[in-house]
Amino acid sequence: MAPPPEELTDSPLSRPRRGAVSTSESRDAVKAALAKNRLLAALDAKSRDLLATDFELITLKPREQIYDVDSRVTAVYFPISAVVSAVLGSTVLVSIGNEGMLGVPLMLGVERSFSRIVVQVGGRALRMDAARFRINLEQSPALGRVLAKYIYVVLKEILQDSLCRRAHAIEPRCARWLLRMCDWVAAEDFRLTQQFLSEMMDVRRATVNPALGVLRKASLIHYVRGRIRVLDRAGLEAAACDCYRIVDTEYRRLNSASGG
Ligand SMILES: [Zn+2]
Repeated sequence: MAPPPEELTDSPLSRPRRGAVSTSESRDAVKAALAKNRLLAALDAKSRDLLATDFELITLKPREQIYDVDSRVTAVYFPISAVVSAVLGSTVLVSIGNEGMLGVPLMLGVERSFSRIVVQVGGRALRMDAARFRINLEQSPALGRVLAKYIYVVLKEILQDSLCRRAHAIEPRCARWLLRMCDWVAAEDFRLTQQFLSEMMDVRRATVNPALGVLRKASLIHYVRGRIRVLDRAGLEAAACDCYRIVDTEYRRLNSASGG
């Protein structure tokens, strides 16, 4: 028996930490990061350049809580390598990486967070103050168009996930989230806690290990102590439920040709 794929015993849902850790970076680093968030990359170069001066590049720490339910949304965040989750109670509503942004309430003219926002995978993100974001939104129709389409895709993903949780078997769902993780970290070898995987799948932690075992037995993945390596990406895609492809297609449409 392989050891369980468990690295961190703390759950970001039960042990939130306060306080963003920011590291100011040069303007060049900010500009390079802008192209790595797929939502911002969908903007034309001119619109993107105009935004660059208002962004700061920061590091988000695992288990950091960015917003609580109903707390004031003081900034928007565009993840680069970090992954965050919107959480209500102990339920993960949606997880967001380099395909998206945090701060949808501001887009809708509301200043309060509708959920808790916690960091699941530490990494880089671009941050912009709410006041500057509002001004940019008014001045850049291209930004408004892309973010409006983003809200549509996030709603579609939440609905798709609600179907997935009820209708699809554990192993295909597990494959689905491993693929999503590959996309978030832009790698096929990554750390993934059993806790985060179980929260995305909305199952008990004890359910996750047998599902990973099935995928490993089929030679699709290798895992040891919370580190997962995808051995056969095409095979993992074939093993995943259709939800991966459906949601991924929506994000690809959004992320290409200014929202297409
Ligand atoms: Zn599914």
